[in-house]
Amino acid sequence: MRVLVINSGSSSLKYQVRDTDSNEIAANGLIERIGEGSGGPADHGEAMEDVAAVLEGVLTQKPLDAVGHRVVHGGERFSEPVLINNEITRAIERLNPLAPLHNPANVLGIRAITAKWPDLPQVAVFDTAFHRTLPEHAWRYAVPDSLYRQYGIRRYGFHGTSHEFVTGRAAALLGVPLDGFNAVVAHLGNGASLTAVQGGASIDTSMGFTPLEGLVMGTRSGDLDPSILIYLQRQGLSADEIDTMLNRESGLKALAGNNDMRAIVDAAEAGDRHARLALDVASYRLAKYIGGYHVAVGGAQALVFTAGIGENSAVFRALVVDRLGALGVKLDAGANLVRVTSPRVVSTADSAIPVLVVPTDEEQAIAEATAAIVLAS
Ligand code: AMP
Repeated sequence: MRVLVINSGSSSLKYQVRDTDSNEIAANGLIERIGEGSGGPADHGEAMEDVAAVLEGVLTQKPLDAVGHRVVHGGERFSEPVLINNEITRAIERLNPLAPLHNPANVLGIRAITAKWPDLPQVAVFDTAFHRTLPEHAWRYAVPDSLYRQYGIRRYGFHGTSHEFVTGRAAALLGVPLDGFNAVVAHLGNGASLTAVQGGASIDTSMGFTPLEGLVMGTRSGDLDPSILIYLQRQGLSADEIDTMLNRESGLKALAGNNDMRAIVDAAEAGDRHARLALDVASYRLAKYIGGYHVAVGGAQALVFTAGIGENSAVFRALVVDRLGALGVKLDAGANLVRVTSPRVVSTADSAIPVLVVPTDEEQAIAEATAAIVLAS
């Protein structure tokens, strides 16, 4: 099947045309600065028009069979990918308040395609769906129940498509049946989250009500004392200023002055104290979470690294695993340095559990899920 995969960010739109039988990428691209004036597309609807124009040549040779959308927030309703119709689009729209930067962009993209190609099946693949198996003790915050009932305040978790894809790959690499697979999966990109997998299902994850909670990320703070927010508001900062600070000016960028892991590692090796501290804070926080999730899953059978940093930064992996000595986990220094693009083991034979590097591919996962839904419908 030929599937157009659409991955909309708040001001960007990534697209790929995938052939799910051959796993070939027939076309791909990125439109940036959406809605920022200066001649770019005014919104994600216009950006979709631009994508359709660019793809005209590719699609004349072989037309599309379906479109798969990455939708950030599926709320409590969506636990699986779904075939989109008007009611589903409205349901995604009703979740806009939970993901104000992302879901509106998804809805505009869906409607633009409906207008352009009304007969083309469209599928929504939700970033939250894999985490719909979290037990209540993991998704509840210890706050009054009215916050949950009135505002939907609970842990949702994100990066689910990636965590699910990587979990499946890791189980296959180890030859363990998925429903008997316990693991701790670290998706470490510019956004970062850790998932506790038990019996192949997500039972806890570090991102929460929004993708701000949990690990130290490229520009996001991760966990902090919520009183800090109240204190800053009392000092005169507005909600928007605090939002921008914690989402765009914190994390590695705040600590090291940079959110590119390669540059941070280079600077640390050259003796930059701030870069060193950024690596220490991020690896320490992650190691604590891994220890917690090892307990949460009742003993993980593997620790899995994925995404930009997890796949490519041997230095960061080593910093994290060095902090896991109490668990008996040991990296094989040579294997850790090898750069390959397929799943692999990077721990020693006597490591308490294997450490894996498993490349993620959200577009492939979305294309495959889309094809499966369309074939079944
Ligand atoms: P992602 O969001 O998955 O694209 O990941 C982005 C992050 O991966 C950035 O912090 C990059 O610095 C980091 N990254 C990408 N390639 C490398 C590499 N070769 N070595 C270290 N970090 C990398």
